[in-house]
Amino acid sequence: MAPYLQPRVDGDLRSILDSHDTLHRMLDTLGSPLNLVLPDRLAANVRDFETTLRAYDLGGTVYFAHKANRSSALVRALATTGAGIDVASLGELQHALGAGIGPGRIMATGPKSREFLWLAARTGVTVGADSVPELAELAGIVAAHGLPRVRVMARLSGFASTGTTVLSRASRFGVPVSALDPLWTVLDKHREQLDFHGAAYHLDTNGIPEKAAALEGCLEAMAEAQRRGFGPRAVDVGGGFGVNYLADSREWEAWTTELTGAVLGQRPPITWDGHGYGLRNEGGRLRGALAVYPAYRAVAGPAYLDRLLATASTAHRRPLGALVLDNLYDLHLEPGRALLDQCGAVLTRVEEVRDGLVRVAANSNDVALEAHGVLMDPILVPRGEPRPDDGPVEVFLAGNLCLEADLITRRRVLLPRPPRAGDLLVFANTAGYLMDFSAGSALMQPTARTVAAWRHGGDWRWCLDERYWPVTGREETG
Ligand SMILES: *Cc1c(COP(=O)(O)O)cnc(C)c1O
Repeated sequence: MAPYLQPRVDGDLRSILDSHDTLHRMLDTLGSPLNLVLPDRLAANVRDFETTLRAYDLGGTVYFAHKANRSSALVRALATTGAGIDVASLGELQHALGAGIGPGRIMATGPKSREFLWLAARTGVTVGADSVPELAELAGIVAAHGLPRVRVMARLSGFASTGTTVLSRASRFGVPVSALDPLWTVLDKHREQLDFHGAAYHLDTNGIPEKAAALEGCLEAMAEAQRRGFGPRAVDVGGGFGVNYLADSREWEAWTTELTGAVLGQRPPITWDGHGYGLRNEGGRLRGALAVYPAYRAVAGPAYLDRLLATASTAHRRPLGALVLDNLYDLHLEPGRALLDQCGAVLTRVEEVRDGLVRVAANSNDVALEAHGVLMDPILVPRGEPRPDDGPVEVFLAGNLCLEADLITRRRVLLPRPPRAGDLLVFANTAGYLMDFSAGSALMQPTARTVAAWRHGGDWRWCLDERYWPVTGREETG
C-alpha cells in the first residue's frame, strides 16, 4: 500500500474539523467546494513571529503577504493586530485599506501599474521597489501630482557570499547588489520625492545560508547608503519561512523512499501514470530531483526566523540578529504561507466512488496541491450513521473537470476506509496558496465560497467571509 501522508492539524483547526455536523451543515448551505478560514489563528501566528523578533530585542513589523489568500476576514482580523500587510496589486491595496489597515502598516511590493503606484503614494504607504526604473517612475508621479514624499524600500538581488560558494538564484525582481550605483543616483536625484527607508530581499527558498547571505548583503548596502548620506532605518527579509504540513516525518521519509522504488521499477507505481515528481529512471539509474514542497519540515515559521537570526555573519562573526540590533535597524518580514499555518481548510463533497477513483465536487484549481507541489492526505468526514470499519483503501482523487489531468493529486492516496458519495474530503491547512490562489471558473463549475469561523463560548460560529468583521457575532459583555 502507498504510505499515508497525514496532515499536521492542531488547535482550533483540529477542533472544528472534528465537528462533523458543523462541516456538513456548512457544505449543505453553501455547496462544494467550500473554503473555511479561521481569522483568530492568523492573529495568534502574528504574535508568534513578534515573540521571535522580541527575543532578539528587535523592533520591526510583520507584514502578511496578502497574495497567499484572498479572504477579507483574514485581512480584517489582521487589522486588529500589530501586523502590517504586504500588498502586490492595486486590488490588494484597496482591500487592505478597506479592511481598516492604516497606510503606515502597508507595504506595496511586486510588479506595479501606474495606478497602483499613484494610490500607494497618495495614501502614504511604503513602496517596496523592484527596480531603479520603478523608483524613477514613482518619483515622477509624486512630483507631477504634488504628492507627499514616499517612503521606499529597495529590493536587492544577486547576492553572493564571500568565503563560501553560496550564490543565490536568478531573480526577475530586485536591483543587483553588484550594480547599486544607479540606485544611489535615482535616490539622490529624487530626495524630495523618495525617502529611502532601507533594503529588502525575498527569496523563495528554504536554504538558510542563501538567506543569511542575502541579509548580510542588505546590511552592507545599508552601510553604503549611510556613507552616501541616506538614513536607512529598516531591513526587510521578505517571506519564505515555510510550513510543516505533515504530522510525522517517518511518513514523509517512507513515501519518498517508496516513490524512488516505484520510479526505479522496484515496486508498483504509487502515482498516476507512474509520475515521478521530478525523478526519472534512466537505464536503471535514478535521475532528476524531487520537485515538490518539503512537506515535512522540522524547522518552519517563527522557528525558521529564529534560525536565520541566530546564524553567524561570515564577515562579522556575530549572529545576524545581533548585527541588525547593533545598527538599531528595524527588521521587517513578509511571511505569507507561514502566517496562514493552521488557518483554514478546503471542504469538498464526494460525488462518486468507482474502480479506485474518488471524484469530488471540486477541481485541481480549487485545491492547488499539485500546482504548489504540496503532498498530503485529505481527512475523511463521513455522512450519516457510523458504518462498519472496512479498513483502508487506496484511491486516486479526481476533480470535476472533464480533463484527464484534473486530479486533485497525482499521488495514490490511502484513506482510512472506503468513502461514499455524500461524505466530505477535507483538505486541511490549505489557507496559504492552496485555497484560492489558482481558483477559476473553468467549465462554469462553481467557485468556492469562503466562510470564516470563530469560537463563541463552547460553540463554533461562522458566516460568509465578506460579512465577517472583528466584532461580528462577538457581543461585548459587561
Ligand atoms: C510571495 C511573497 C512573499 C511571501 O512569501 P511566502 O513564501 O508565502 O512567505 C513575501 N514577499 C514577497 C515580495 C513576495 O513576493
